[in-house]
Amino acid sequence: MHSRSAQLLLLSTVIFLFACDKAALPVDPDAPVAVEEIVVTSQTGLSTMTAGESLQLTANILPANASNKTVKWSISDPTTALISNAGKVTGVIAGIVTAKATANDGSGVSGSLTLTINAEPNGDPLALYKKIYGATSIYQDGNYVIIKSEDLPDHKTPYYLGTQWESELYEDYNGNNNQFQLNPNRIKKQNMTFKIPLNPAPSANPQATPLGSIGISLNGVPFYNQYAGPNQPLTFEVNSFDQAYGHPQMSGQYHYHWEPLYLTANFGEDALLGFLLDGYPVYGPMENGQVVTNGQLDAYHGHAHATLEFPQETYHYHITDQDPYINGSGFYGVPGTVTN
Ligand SMILES: [Zn+2]
Ligand SMILES: [Zn+2]
Repeated sequence: MHSRSAQLLLLSTVIFLFACDKAALPVDPDAPVAVEEIVVTSQTGLSTMTAGESLQLTANILPANASNKTVKWSISDPTTALISNAGKVTGVIAGIVTAKATANDGSGVSGSLTLTINAEPNGDPLALYKKIYGATSIYQDGNYVIIKSEDLPDHKTPYYLGTQWESELYEDYNGNNNQFQLNPNRIKKQNMTFKIPLNPAPSANPQATPLGSIGISLNGVPFYNQYAGPNQPLTFEVNSFDQAYGHPQMSGQYHYHWEPLYLTANFGEDALLGFLLDGYPVYGPMENGQVVTNGQLDAYHGHAHATLEFPQETYHYHITDQDPYINGSGFYGVPGTVTN
């Protein structure tokens, strides 16, 4: 018995020493770290999409140094939506589906997001134009979308002074380093009709933008180009830009030559802000968290890549804070028309 106790004591001492020795070993920084959690998010936080559109999902694997960086995507009901290896969901039929990302390390750890897919089986060709909330009507006419606007900005401006909208929408402005000079024009209701190609195509002979309306923004206010008159820079007009960077011309047509500040404040600096007459979309001055510079854009002030609204890639213009601001040497595509 005595000898047996001594053996046990010796054994436990060895185990104790071994345990101490092991605990003292430094942690190997290259040792594989198991996936603990996967957080699935969608582009810009959206969880609603329209059938025919697509939505990009991101699977964030935690902890950040987990050895496995790949996931397998799946969706709860393959008859209502499809999901690609890259996490792109394409809606086919309306319904509620759950997109799931499972770690490829065999651990079974997964994350998911429930998506609502709205009914519009073949997609609505006018869906993006319907973002122009300031339009009085939007409808299709053959290969064109017709957008009508009264061009009454929905934000405050001193240019409502003395008009029927004064009590609601007039606001004084003394910005721009006190350089602001109210021009003598006041906002008047317009009767504008924009006829824009539904399937924009590059022009073989791009034409210069005219003076006057060259496109329409989300609140129904037209975009103008970088000139105050024939080859006249905006130098002297700038002082009459109000707090939204807009002003009316002689017939009371309110317009933006620069970034529409009210729209970027409401929809984001990287948002789709409208369309030019050639049907190509106009985006704000930021992209992927960076300010877009003229150097990143071509002679027409645009470039092509996938965007939130056009996951298949599209040519698009960007507004920058440098001349030419919205459009450069002309329309990249074949322009439609505008009448008033
Ligand atoms: Zn102007
Ligand atoms: Zn871009």
